[in-house]
Amino acid sequence: MLAHPRTGQLFDSPVEPGTGWPGDPATAQTAVARDAAQVSGLAGRAVSIAELDAQSSVCRACPRLVTWREEVAEVKRRSFADQPYWGRPVPGWGSEQPRLLIVGLAPAANGANRTGRMFTGDRSGDQLYAALHRAGLVNQPTSVDAADGLRAKKIRIVAPVRCAPPGNAPTPAERTTCSPWLDAEWLLVSEHVRVIVALGGFAWQVALRLPGIAGIPKPRFGHGVVAELPSGKRLLGCYHPSQQNMFTGRLTPAMLDDVFGAARKQAGIR
Ligand code: SF4
Repeated sequence: MLAHPRTGQLFDSPVEPGTGWPGDPATAQTAVARDAAQVSGLAGRAVSIAELDAQSSVCRACPRLVTWREEVAEVKRRSFADQPYWGRPVPGWGSEQPRLLIVGLAPAANGANRTGRMFTGDRSGDQLYAALHRAGLVNQPTSVDAADGLRAKKIRIVAPVRCAPPGNAPTPAERTTCSPWLDAEWLLVSEHVRVIVALGGFAWQVALRLPGIAGIPKPRFGHGVVAELPSGKRLLGCYHPSQQNMFTGRLTPAMLDDVFGAARKQAGIR
């Protein structure tokens, strides 16, 4: 067992549900989905974000991803060798009544798969949360671990695939298996959401397939592209704040500020 870098509590890697990890929504009794049909069943019956977060955080439906996330958690990157790794699916993070929904891709192996919170503990998250802080959408500019005091202001960040995939590349079958978790999450929050920001082309496609949105003409993804959705909602395209995009200058902090400034305004977040 190793000590959590902030709380000092000892944990196995991966973390057992209900053992005290900061923000762990599950308990030892939380139902575990072991195949695609069970994901559909549990997600479809979830009546609250709390229930959905708990069940998705213990899911074991994709054998390849379960093996990978747990192997990464046990082996660890050398720079984090003294830390426990979450090593489980990463549930959505933020408000349960968000006006702004941010859709990513999947957890990073040594980022969210280590810390247990979306975009927390990696370079992409450093860029994203700094931008969200500049836009007044979170209370602090850094996101280091799940006990660092970060709070969301009417935003929620979700991943269409909740386990870290090898090479950041989930298979089409894994994307399909995981999709009921996001569909169910969307149905639980969509009445509040005014704006969706899609981080990258895959997130854009996923957003356009959400329940109640699927069926509209599908505009092509681009940074800064705005798509009008049913019920007056809007979808904004934004390049993913990956290390590669930021390093090459394809995406700059100023471009992120433009997107999240517009998103905040359009979502009516004061
Ligand atoms: S990717 Fe999704 S469906 Fe597959 S094991 Fe992880 S949480 Fe479950």
